[in-house]
Amino acid sequence: MAEYRGFKRVVGNREDMSNGEQELGITESKEHSPGEWYAEVVRKAKLADYAPMGGFIVTRPRGYALWEVIQSYLDGRFKETGVQNAYFPLFIPESYLEREKDVVEGFDPEVAWVTQGGHEELEERLAVRPTSESIIAPFLSQWIRSHRDLPMRVNQWCSVVRWEATETKPFFRTKEFLWQEGHTAHRDHDDAWDETMTRLKQYEEVYEDVLAIPVMRGRKPEHDKFPGADTTTTVEALMPDGKSVQGGTSHHLGQSFAEAFDITFVDEDEEETVAHTTSWGLSWRAIGALIMTHSDDQGLVLPPTVAPEQVVIVPIWQEENREEVLEYSEGIADDLEEAGFRVELDDRDERNPGFKFNEWELLGTPLRLEIGPHEVEDGEVTAVHRPDGENHVEKRDGIVATVEEHLDTVYAKLYAAAEENLEENVREADSREEILGTIGQFGGYVRAPWCGDEDCETAIKDEIAAEIVMVPMEGEEPDDDCAVCGEDAEETAYFAKSY
Ligand SMILES: [Zn+2]
Repeated sequence: MAEYRGFKRVVGNREDMSNGEQELGITESKEHSPGEWYAEVVRKAKLADYAPMGGFIVTRPRGYALWEVIQSYLDGRFKETGVQNAYFPLFIPESYLEREKDVVEGFDPEVAWVTQGGHEELEERLAVRPTSESIIAPFLSQWIRSHRDLPMRVNQWCSVVRWEATETKPFFRTKEFLWQEGHTAHRDHDDAWDETMTRLKQYEEVYEDVLAIPVMRGRKPEHDKFPGADTTTTVEALMPDGKSVQGGTSHHLGQSFAEAFDITFVDEDEEETVAHTTSWGLSWRAIGALIMTHSDDQGLVLPPTVAPEQVVIVPIWQEENREEVLEYSEGIADDLEEAGFRVELDDRDERNPGFKFNEWELLGTPLRLEIGPHEVEDGEVTAVHRPDGENHVEKRDGIVATVEEHLDTVYAKLYAAAEENLEENVREADSREEILGTIGQFGGYVRAPWCGDEDCETAIKDEIAAEIVMVPMEGEEPDDDCAVCGEDAEETAYFAKSY
């Protein structure tokens, strides 16, 4: 598990909370209106607002802080494994994008174009990057000369724009989104494959060890892989509403991009050789999956690994004991802060404890410590878990170790609930009707033997908008004929609706 401690608290909350219209409480139900519920949680927990232009959002400090934790974790893992960060321009000349089209036939994202700069019409249109392969690859080609330059691994943290006209859903569907894109070049197939799997493993770890979301690893079927790629691998997470989220993808590109962009090197035998390349990306959709997985009808629920405040201390006083309750609370806050926890002492005079409880629940703070005159007298605190309200009276002595234990427990609870959802929602089917019926009734994943033909996916897709989200990386040999057409099965497919 990622360390709780060490990330400094990056967002202030107080002035922000106490002025303006404070509408506390979620009115929509996660179970009955998940779309509206999600939008309400995002807005009321102060993660994001809708921008004036359709399809864009404004990420507020509390939302951006979540991205920073994901970024910081992954960036550290990337650097430990030989990746360097770089930055390429926001704009890509049209001729560069055209060059990519030779390789990636079929990849035609809706591109936003700049046609004018100042008062001048541009001679060549500039695309706002929908992804950066076409501008990064020509530079890898220049930078790589000999086998000694390999492997070369470059990553950039940036945003990309895809002008798709769909309904805006913060962190899931926006025209501009934040992500990282890694691009690497290698001597041979196996080295590039190892790279592909290293990044997939790191994506799995960020979900499981930081976001408390179990994922399944697999690859996309041939017809759904990244155009031009040999293999597209994916981590998939199951949301409580039964839909799958593609959590991150890592592509083994083989030599197609290297051939198109002339990424070659002189090998040990002085032979000019075409490199093997990979690319891999994870976007802020991970934040969407985080919100959707753990939160409830009281608001946001966050694991302690990512929460801007891991512990909130709410002192409960009357006029005659105000001073001693506050002093005792401050002592505990100091101890926890010194130990590296992100802790907030909510000593606002103008709000009563009940209001404060609701507010911190809405904001997703994993652990609340309640301190009243009785706790002070007995040298105790009451610890309350956000996900389920479980509470314990604990000793003041050893508070640092106690808090750490409670945070571990909260993380474990969140992970276990998500894991249970996943385990209960992988079902088998061996006919078209059964696939349709099972997904229709329960959602989740349906495992079925599959011949490998896209038509057999289309037969499902056309009926209920479910698709093959992945096939397992290895093992899981099909034990029967294709569930849809009855021909010989090549592999086991996981059908699901997806975001
Ligand atoms: Zn078939």
